[in-house]
Amino acid sequence: CFSRVGFVGLGNMGGHMARNLLKKGHRLTVFDVNETAVSNLTEAGANGAANPAEVAEVADVVVSMLPSNQHVLDVYNGRNGLLSSAKRNTLLIESSTTGPFVSQTLANETEKCGVRFIDSPVSGGVNAAKDGTLTFMVGGSKENFELAKTVLEKMGSRVVHCGDIGMGQAAKLCNNMLLAISMIGTAEALNLGQKLGLDAKVLADIVNSSTGKCWSSELYNPVPGILDNVPSSKNYEGGFGTTLMAKDLGLAQSAAAKVEATIPLGSLAHQIYRAIIAQGFSKKDFSFVYQFLKGQE
Ligand code: NAD
Repeated sequence: CFSRVGFVGLGNMGGHMARNLLKKGHRLTVFDVNETAVSNLTEAGANGAANPAEVAEVADVVVSMLPSNQHVLDVYNGRNGLLSSAKRNTLLIESSTTGPFVSQTLANETEKCGVRFIDSPVSGGVNAAKDGTLTFMVGGSKENFELAKTVLEKMGSRVVHCGDIGMGQAAKLCNNMLLAISMIGTAEALNLGQKLGLDAKVLADIVNSSTGKCWSSELYNPVPGILDNVPSSKNYEGGFGTTLMAKDLGLAQSAAAKVEATIPLGSLAHQIYRAIIAQGFSKKDFSFVYQFLKGQE
């Protein structure tokens, strides 16, 4: 079991995840380029470091939770990066959403240094990070998975071994691509129904007891007023932003191009979310696609 844990990337997700590690009794050393993010954690009992290398110097396991690919590569390989000081057998857990190929590249580099590595992206948003109920999708050896599980369980309620390196990322991208497609489909059907004269609640009820039912129709309906406590009923505030969805769809698109997989609906979903962002709705929840399709009244 690891006692000395490091954490790099203390943003919307990582800040809460690091706090949960502290609460569960880990000695924690943290770094973020944003000094306020670091001081929030040091006030809660963590040690602050000046760069990723200082984190790896004192930790047996380091979790990273960064915006995207280049940040992850910088934190690992840059000047004063994790790999410049990680000791043999240190376990590096990469939880940012990057796609499978970045993880595979990092796994090759870490192996050369005798350092253990897994990819472990998450599903569940900021609230799940706060409540410690994230799902971790893990790619890597069974041995490293079992080691990582002891730490990941402190931040999540499900830790699933998806296969070899990169397969956590692959699972994450496939799920989110399907989520985008099913959200757009739900929005499209509910918009059409209303234009044809149906009441949205009646139609949602029919869908949810018929073959069209999906998570987006049942638990995250994009039409305001059908469900309480979902972003569509709160002016599409909070939730999972259109920018993050477009990012994940872009990663799915690049990954698909690399393996020559045909993803017509995934590609279209990517373009739809990019158009929503281009029209100024980057801060809205991804269920905003319903308003985008409906247009102005
Ligand atoms: P965020 O932008 O809030 O946080 C990222 C943090 O990394 C910031 O504090 C930033 O200062 C820091 N950072 C950037 N470059 C750095 C560097 N070189 N060294 C150290 N720190 C650096 O992002 P987030 O919402 O916490 O998301 C993190 C990752 O989790 C992303 O890959 C995202 O796709 C994924 N994710 C997010 C959600 C969500 O709902 N927010 C859900 C699932 C997965």
